[in-house]
Amino acid sequence: MKYLFKDIAHLETFGPMGKLENAYVAVEKNVITYVGKEEPKGEFDRVVDCSNMVMLPGFVNTHHHLYQSLTRNVKKVQNSKLFDWLVNLYEIWKNLDEEASYVSAAVAAAEMAISGVTTTSDMLYLYPKGRNEIFDEEIKGVSHIGLRFHPTRGSMSMSKKDGGLPPDSVVQSEDEILSEYERVISKYHDPSKYSMLRIALAPCSPFSVTEKLMIETLEMAEKKDVLLHTHLSETKDEDEFCVEKFGLRPVDYMEKLGWLNPRVWFAHLVQLTDKDIEKLKANDVGVAHCPSSNMRLGSGIAPIMKMKGMRISLGVDGSASNDTGNMILEARNAMLLQRVKYGADAITPREALEFATLGGAKVLRMDDYIGSIEVGKAADIIAFNMNKLEFAGGLDDPVGAILMCDAKKVDFNMINGNVVVENGDLVVNDIQDLIKRHNEISKRLLEG
Ligand SMILES: [Zn+2]
Repeated sequence: MKYLFKDIAHLETFGPMGKLENAYVAVEKNVITYVGKEEPKGEFDRVVDCSNMVMLPGFVNTHHHLYQSLTRNVKKVQNSKLFDWLVNLYEIWKNLDEEASYVSAAVAAAEMAISGVTTTSDMLYLYPKGRNEIFDEEIKGVSHIGLRFHPTRGSMSMSKKDGGLPPDSVVQSEDEILSEYERVISKYHDPSKYSMLRIALAPCSPFSVTEKLMIETLEMAEKKDVLLHTHLSETKDEDEFCVEKFGLRPVDYMEKLGWLNPRVWFAHLVQLTDKDIEKLKANDVGVAHCPSSNMRLGSGIAPIMKMKGMRISLGVDGSASNDTGNMILEARNAMLLQRVKYGADAITPREALEFATLGGAKVLRMDDYIGSIEVGKAADIIAFNMNKLEFAGGLDDPVGAILMCDAKKVDFNMINGNVVVENGDLVVNDIQDLIKRHNEISKRLLEG
């Protein structure tokens, strides 16, 4: 298909062309072929009038746990901090199965698509006995909605009996984990340009994974040339745990393991000292900032504005600690929360939107083909209709309005040249059926 987006009222490219008004973008198959002020010549299969639209590159979400959409807003942990929240939820999650993984991945992906996400990562770290294929099912679920996907094969190897946090029923042996890493990389990882599916490896956290597995995972990532991801420095409890168990604070522990590494991106990074930030900067690690989850669990405010110059992105985090997967809201919360810490002039809406787009592409090392609207990049494009109640009177800065006003969803979402959201609705036609199944599975899990 050849598309022409014409008369785009406001185009924020996050690329070398910056911001354009009354612009044109052309797409052929899955690639952007023209960006500019002049109408391009040629025949198009579809011409889209964008004279009332703001257009951006699609959002890139770098931290999520799709399966947690089944356990949003669980009453028992509505007011819990991280460790208590986890200990209670492990008991529900231990019954996760293949169907639950497929349906929750499709539902979470749908929610993200509606809020403008075109690429998402995920960390699936919990495998009840014999259930390695829940990983395969989440790939099918996301692919059903049409998102570009960079899942991480998560892992937990240190249960209560070894001084970790999770129960035995949800951790795996190191041998099984390593063989599953190999299986999913060889089956799914596509390193090519415009890839719709790449795999990374993700031991869950310092309090659920052994030192040995952290090192073996790093070795495997280097051998297979894939990225690495984990949770780090999320809470004060984690700090205390690491000092007690390893004699080191989390960032120092990562340094010891070789994990301060350009192949790595960390989720959270809330409880940092200035010295920690220097070390992270010096080693070019990526940041997945998760403001909603940090607020919901009372974990603290990540010092993001002190990390300027690093590769910074946003993650909605799992829906059990958000309790939504809305990227527009995540970017707004990132902007507001940094202002709480550093003042009103600390961050502009454009900077927060850059974290959500180009920043995410850089963290996932995919900025050679996503993250901005440029000729030669993949056609991952979102647009908002400005003639709507939520923007009325807020059009002095139409791009900024997306975060300053009450935008909740996109009107248009194209991923790799395929339209996924049109007029604010998903193109797939079975979302009601998925929601029904999702609620039934959720009920079943909560009832044990
Ligand atoms: Zn997380």
